[in-house]
Amino acid sequence: IMLGMVSGIVLGLFLQALFSGQAEYLIPLGLFDFPVKSFLVDGLFHVGGQIFIASLKMLVVPLVFISLVCGTCSLSDPKKLGRLGGKSIALYLMTTAIAITVAISLALIFTPGVGQELPTNASYDAQQAPTLAQVIINMFPTNPINAMASGNMLQVIVFALLFGIAMALSGEPGKRVAKVFDDLNAVVLKLVTILMNLAPYGVFCLMAKLFTTIEIGLIWSLAKYFFVVLAALFIHALINYSIILKVLTGLNPITFLKKMKDACMFAFSTSSSSATMPVTLETATKKLGAHNSVASFTVPLGATINMDGTAIMQGVATVFIAQVFAVDLSISDYLMVILTATLASVGTAGVPGVGLIMLAMVLNQVGLPVEGIAIIIGVDRLLDMTRTAVNVTGDCMVTCIVAKSEKEFDVEVFNDPNAAKELE
Ligand code: ASP
Repeated sequence: IMLGMVSGIVLGLFLQALFSGQAEYLIPLGLFDFPVKSFLVDGLFHVGGQIFIASLKMLVVPLVFISLVCGTCSLSDPKKLGRLGGKSIALYLMTTAIAITVAISLALIFTPGVGQELPTNASYDAQQAPTLAQVIINMFPTNPINAMASGNMLQVIVFALLFGIAMALSGEPGKRVAKVFDDLNAVVLKLVTILMNLAPYGVFCLMAKLFTTIEIGLIWSLAKYFFVVLAALFIHALINYSIILKVLTGLNPITFLKKMKDACMFAFSTSSSSATMPVTLETATKKLGAHNSVASFTVPLGATINMDGTAIMQGVATVFIAQVFAVDLSISDYLMVILTATLASVGTAGVPGVGLIMLAMVLNQVGLPVEGIAIIIGVDRLLDMTRTAVNVTGDCMVTCIVAKSEKEFDVEVFNDPNAAKELE
């Protein structure tokens, strides 16, 4: 996978230089001119990449539903479920609030927006922020099949939890259904393993296409913003997570970060914590040692509501846009930003670019012009890839903490460097 990623990036950059901005690159073949650029970018790389993403997404709903039903049903103590939910939501919100605080502080120190030129004709359509009440009501599906069909993960989670609880309480029939679900779980996990074989090629295609077409030059015009976001992402992933993990569980953060490598590469190349979920779940259970009863709950929940990396981008972007438009934000504005960004991340799915939509809500809340988003949109793709890797790392860290505190954690698997080598 690493090889696929690196060679995709190198080939993409090479092709970008070769095509040097031309709409098409033709090679004369006697009878006709062969359109190399369309063949590679819109043909080979596009098709390969899309099949890979589709195959990952295809797994998400069945995997989450089946493994969550199994997980809930196997939790012997019903009180445990409430505890699990409380702990994970509290940790997810806490880590997001820390992330955005770090981001705002860095942005205030390095002032990326000072001296930036205003865009002349920028425009951006903002969306309304959902209210907290709406977010909570929307978690309950009126039609579970519809929730699955539209990939509304919070609704699928709620239905799976209720279904699993009902199964655990139904005696004999529940036990029979549980057996079926256990078998289904084994089959779906096998499917994950089979499709993982596609990963190196899929990652290669995604990277090659992206780096052939991306405008790297844009980064230099927004270098300060870009690198402040990157710095905040790295500080949060490497330092904050290490401290939180060490303090709350005593586990070795270096081992943890090493084991996150695969999931991070998937997150980086797909830009979607939702599409990465099959890999996140495998990493949490087979490499890190969290039991399925906890991970099947915390991972899908995290992929939906926990977006530390996204919150970091929003923190820096808010300060950046305030500086560009020379607006002074007060302490209460910053607190508002922390609150809205944390809440906004709850109701939105982990798909590419959703962070910018949520940013519009945050900007609205503190009265900053949403047009500011048009300035940063050009460099958002690379940041999206990196912050998705941070989002996924956060999901796994919280999974480890909750699983360890519930004694649903296998320290031997965690410490075994060879655990689940086949994932690699
Ligand atoms: N792409 C991110 C994710 O899936 C969300 C975002 O920041 O846009 O986690």
